[in-house]
Amino acid sequence: MGSEAAMLLEAAHFAAGKHKGQRRKDPDGTPYINHPIGVARILAHEAGVTDIVVLQAALLHDTVEDTATTFTEIEERFGEEVRRVVEEVTDDKTLPKSERKRLQIERAPTSSPRAKLVKLADKLYNLRDLNHCTPEGWSSQRVQEYFQWAAEVVAGLRGTSPPLEEALRRLFEERGLGP
Ligand code: NDP
Ligand code: ZN
Repeated sequence: MGSEAAMLLEAAHFAAGKHKGQRRKDPDGTPYINHPIGVARILAHEAGVTDIVVLQAALLHDTVEDTATTFTEIEERFGEEVRRVVEEVTDDKTLPKSERKRLQIERAPTSSPRAKLVKLADKLYNLRDLNHCTPEGWSSQRVQEYFQWAAEVVAGLRGTSPPLEEALRRLFEERGLGP
């Protein structure tokens, strides 16, 4: 097996262990690991990304934010470049939610090209999830507000991946959210 394939499997295996027992917010309670795998798949299949650092970072992108994983652990297992991307896409959970949301909008334009790719694919996956079904307890207004906020983040990520940006543009258009 090629070493890059082995490295990808290592990241998928690590993320699966860390997210073990966690569920998405959809009514079916889909296993959480479906999300990072889906984000990496969007990058490979729809954006044509072959950069192993981006694909590994996509698989690992929610481990520090949503599990007990540390950045040091990511660096020791996957190297400094992967750690840097994961760090860029990780919200500081000690901050209030509204501040975390604001910072995502503010920091999108100055993110590295690798982090911008992961952010775009992450938003695309989540918006498709929301179109597919509404999380338990979410009103249609909350879904719409999530789309509005995502559109503001994505506006700061332009010029990164034409296919992903086009897919997102169509989703926003369906919601009456212009460029
Ligand atoms: P949350 O941050 O609570 O939830 C969205 C996040 O959950 C996603 O970014 C995603 O993060 C993760 N997620 C897990 N499962 C799913 C799924 N099935 N579909 C999509 N995402 C999933 O949302 P917000 O707090 O941002 O709520 C949206 C908007 O609604 C906000 O703008 C806020 O102002 C407003 N709001 C309204 C409330 C109301 O009751 N009306 C209450 C709270 C907020 P990841 O990629 O990390 O998995
Ligand atoms: Zn995510």
